Amino acid sequence: MTKKFYTVIIPEVHEHKVKQIAESVKRYAENASPGQYFSLKKISVSHTVPKADDPRKKDKKIDIKSLTDIIEIDTEKRICIAEAGIPFSELVKETLDHGFIPGTVPELKTITIGGAVSGCSIESMSYKYGGFHDSCLEYEIVTGTGEIIRCSRQTEPEIFEMVHGAFGTLGILTLIKFKLIPAKPYVRMEYETFPSFDRFLEAVEKHYLRRDLDFMDAIIHSPEKCVLCKGTFVEKVPYFNIYTRKIFYKSTLERDEDYLPTYHYLFRYDTECHWLTRNYGLENPLLRGLAGSFLLGSSNILRIGEKFPFLTKLSGKPDVVADVFVPYSNIRAFWKWYIEFFNYFPLWVVPYHIYKIYPWINPEFMEGIEDNLFIDCAIYGFRQKGELNYYRALEDKVFELRGVKTLITYNYYPEDIFWTWYNRSLYDEVKARTDPRNLFRNIYQKMNYTVR
Ligand SMILES: Cc1cc2nc3c(=O)[nH]c(=O)nc-3n(C[C@H](O)[C@H](O)[C@H](O)COP(=O)(O)OP(=O)(O)OC[C@H]3O[C@@H](n4cnc5c(N)ncnc54)[C@H](O)[C@@H]3O)c2cc1C
Repeated sequence: MTKKFYTVIIPEVHEHKVKQIAESVKRYAENASPGQYFSLKKISVSHTVPKADDPRKKDKKIDIKSLTDIIEIDTEKRICIAEAGIPFSELVKETLDHGFIPGTVPELKTITIGGAVSGCSIESMSYKYGGFHDSCLEYEIVTGTGEIIRCSRQTEPEIFEMVHGAFGTLGILTLIKFKLIPAKPYVRMEYETFPSFDRFLEAVEKHYLRRDLDFMDAIIHSPEKCVLCKGTFVEKVPYFNIYTRKIFYKSTLERDEDYLPTYHYLFRYDTECHWLTRNYGLENPLLRGLAGSFLLGSSNILRIGEKFPFLTKLSGKPDVVADVFVPYSNIRAFWKWYIEFFNYFPLWVVPYHIYKIYPWINPEFMEGIEDNLFIDCAIYGFRQKGELNYYRALEDKVFELRGVKTLITYNYYPEDIFWTWYNRSLYDEVKARTDPRNLFRNIYQKMNYTVR
């Protein structure tokens, strides 16, 4: 990445860039042959699971590499306006200089704000603030017909709500206005280890109700070692650690307390891409010392997966990398099943406050679910064995428990099941408005591995 990010630019410069993108969409749309689809060329690597035979490789690329600047940081109103292709790491460097961070900061450095809306990013502040989309106030979008529109919860609310979790199938996000929250320079971490998942859940519930932490997530190292990671902003520290060479997730088992600079806290999982480095042998100290800067970091790990996809399926079937959002009332049932079928650790657990069931989820599917607290269980790198398709098994179980498996990964949903949990009628309504020729593919077509 050679481009300089986070230049604060005047709105006219942004308008010029977006007009160019809209014109190229119009031009391509006019000349598109049947079966020709569009996808995006961004400045940073994609944080969806790399697939060797992904048909998107043959798509017409819309270049949005220029969309990496900030228009405004308003510390009084606590609002930022930035272009959708800016990676969080660069955005955060700038907002931290003003004493603020976005309301939700996904943990991998090069996730972009547009990608975070489209792919439902959440993290350790989500137990209070929800996902990144929940902190957003307005989107600018280039549609599949090259129209430039603005939407918010007040203006065009259906479009605003449906681009969240639509994985770019309703248009191109070009500008995002979102809330900022005050930050301090350091984060004090406290690691509390519980001997059972039940005891661990009691602690999660207590902090969820009290909202007394700045950050809360967990690493389940084993059923008997459930570590709740509690973070609080602090001004001053007795010492601090940075996990760019050392392995963060292991430190949660080894320590009771730690201090991290806020920037390094936010991206604490980036070096290992959570713990996917394990599957590439990159926890080996010799290899880390020799080639760390080329191999470590989520961008490198995901690029390795893109270039050498066989490494992500050494068992013959793709390793499982997936997030599932399970209603709190059903999490114990999920855990029991997970132990029986996966029994794979560490498991990353992120409590997630959902203000209201998102409109892209079929309301009939969620009937009877009263929870505002969901638990995100993130599985990184489980090696499949035997005949079972573990991805499909996960889909079935989560469906039964009225949860959602995010689509960032391999998806094997039969079409009727997919449209049982996804809100087809509202999706189709918005799609007819923003991409009537289906140039970005419909979401089932785009995200399901079985549809090729
Ligand atoms: C290994 C791995 C680890 C992850 N870890 C985390 C984590 O720690 N925290 C977390 O919150 N999430 C995590 N994620 C999920 C991640 O947040 C989502 O996949 C997110 O969508 C990635 O954003 P991106 O900027 O990389 O976009 P991409 O991966 O490039 O795109 C994701 C989807 O969004 C669409 N899209 C991207 N930009 C735009 C745009 N400007 N307009 C319209 N559509 C767009 C793309 O077309 C694509 O369908 C992880 C994913 C993986 C695979």
